[in-house]
Amino acid sequence: MAGFNRPKPVALDPAKLAALVAEASEQKIGGSFQKSTDPDFPYWNHEPAKPCLVYVPRIMAIDSENNAVLDIDKPLIHSINFNGQYSKIRCTRGLNLTDGEGKHYADDHGNALFDGSCPICDNVSAGFELAKLHVEAECKAVGLNPEDKDNDQVKAIRKKHYGSRALGQPDVKLTIPLVVFETTEDDKGRAQLVVNDNKPIYKIFWYAISQRQYEKTWEVALDNSESGAENIGGNVFGVQFGKKDAATGALPNARDAVKDLSVSIRDAITGKLRGAGILDEIDADVKEKGWTKSKAAEVLAENVFVSVPEIASSISTITADIAMKTQMMSVAPGSGGSTSLDALTGGGGAAAASAAPLGALPAGATDVDEPASGGLLGSAV
Ligand SMILES: [Zn+2]
Repeated sequence: MAGFNRPKPVALDPAKLAALVAEASEQKIGGSFQKSTDPDFPYWNHEPAKPCLVYVPRIMAIDSENNAVLDIDKPLIHSINFNGQYSKIRCTRGLNLTDGEGKHYADDHGNALFDGSCPICDNVSAGFELAKLHVEAECKAVGLNPEDKDNDQVKAIRKKHYGSRALGQPDVKLTIPLVVFETTEDDKGRAQLVVNDNKPIYKIFWYAISQRQYEKTWEVALDNSESGAENIGGNVFGVQFGKKDAATGALPNARDAVKDLSVSIRDAITGKLRGAGILDEIDADVKEKGWTKSKAAEVLAENVFVSVPEIASSISTITADIAMKTQMMSVAPGSGGSTSLDALTGGGGAAAASAAPLGALPAGATDVDEPASGGLLGSAV
């Protein structure tokens, strides 16, 4: 089964190679990953353990239930993890792109670009089924009951297979323009605004918040607001990713820092800046410079739209791989008798060999026919 094509190394003479190796020794983790393709609309690369003051611009819209909501891009993002390659693709489920007469716009081959389907969503349950077969086979091999979910060994096996599925269910990513103020750190380790001509100095960045992170940190910070703030839009927050080691002062590594996010609402600073008209000025500045949700869908690698035929083509290797492995796993593993062996031997005379798959198949088939139950989905997430 063909995988993705492994890129070929570039041919370099020794001097060029040495120069590149020297460059590589200065290379920093995280800094080089292009989340935004437009340097005028950069993504926020926060520093580990640095206390920051940020402002979420108040760019509001009215939703279908007549509530004021942040007018931001909220893409559903699929994680793809196949043969060690990792990617993210925006979900297209429910998205339709039609002309005035309700006809879907199509690509050069006449395939609708966006017809409400999503090839990744359509294959998520097939991946669950394959993971389930792997769990059953591995549990059976060591004499465990795959349904014994309290057993630590079963738990580990389930986590391994459900956690390494190639096509994940989509996650919501709230994508906001974020105003990051220039600050200094006081002796208590708190961020203090740097002001110039009585105005804070700031830069605008994109920042994406996962639904889980939003609920765990930003929403909790809102609940702690003493001024009754109900929306992150229009408010200043103290934000810090990870802490310095108390004993040595060492910085956390980037990966740990991202997981250890603390967010606190700063009502007093919000009130002061709002009172001075500064937050309104910033809102106007963000709008005027074009930090819209359309811009996010244009320049951010995770937010761009990929058409349905293009997604189907890019994951075709993966869906074929899932189908092939599912078929292989559905045949009783290790039983010497298989349908292909039966075909080779003509099916007759090989009574002993065909007895095993015949006996095993109905049980296997029942498992495969079972729809992915809520419990299964729930326990895997
Ligand atoms: Zn999808």
